[in-house]
Amino acid sequence: MIRFLGVHKWFGRLHVLNDVNLHIAQGKVVVVCGPSGSGKSTLIRTINRLEPIDRGRLIVDGMDLSDSKTDIHRLRAEIGFVFQQFNLYPHLTALRNITLAPIKIRGLDKKEAHNQAMALLERVGLAEKHNSYPSQLSGGQQQRVAIARALAMKPRIMLFDEPTSALDPEMIGEVLTVMRDLAQTGMTMVVVTHEMGFAGEVSDRIVFIDNGAVLEEAEPSEFFRAPKHERSRQFLKQVL
Ligand code: ADP
Ligand code: MG
Repeated sequence: MIRFLGVHKWFGRLHVLNDVNLHIAQGKVVVVCGPSGSGKSTLIRTINRLEPIDRGRLIVDGMDLSDSKTDIHRLRAEIGFVFQQFNLYPHLTALRNITLAPIKIRGLDKKEAHNQAMALLERVGLAEKHNSYPSQLSGGQQQRVAIARALAMKPRIMLFDEPTSALDPEMIGEVLTVMRDLAQTGMTMVVVTHEMGFAGEVSDRIVFIDNGAVLEEAEPSEFFRAPKHERSRQFLKQVL
């Protein structure tokens, strides 16, 4: 589903992705972790071409992102992205946040979009909040709406960039529960997170990056039990 082949990226002189090679098969959940500034956000943002790559190849669902003819709109329509900051439209209710893109971009009629959005709100445990505005919702609730909104576009891949980092501790669990349920539906997911409990329980693989390079790629049990690099050992000491 996602294939990085010798991918490099620079910001000016900063070598932010250094020869990244990764294969992520359909239905797999991959957690990306690493120190702050190591290139995690840049890595995940290349997948929907929020950041173009400078060298190497990146194939996403059969589309070659290094090919200028690739239809970026089609690519983005297949990828849901959930950020640390929930970025809901503040002037729209939870329900309208979810129906907006399906109506405008997918051309769904209002009734259909409404029914789908209600089903998604149900799925993230927020059906009764459909008429609430973002300011009336907790951070955890807003993030669950943001996930529902991404799912409304029926993506084939879901990207999460530190989805719980801006949340109060007591709200982290409710968001991780929604993500765990999503993983069980067979969604292909790439998740940047420091939540090693989630990583251990839900992910198929953990990718540890440092200074833009993949230092380690392992099953979670192996990564926790016997991290191969001093850098990953240090990182685990800090987050576990
Ligand atoms: P992480 O998500 O792991 O904290 P990032 O991918 O956000 O790391 O950033 C990796 C490095 O690239 C950092 O040194 C950061 O300052 C730098 N960086 C990120 N975005 C830009 C940008 N748009 N322009 C220049 N440098 C950037
Ligand atoms: Mg980041």
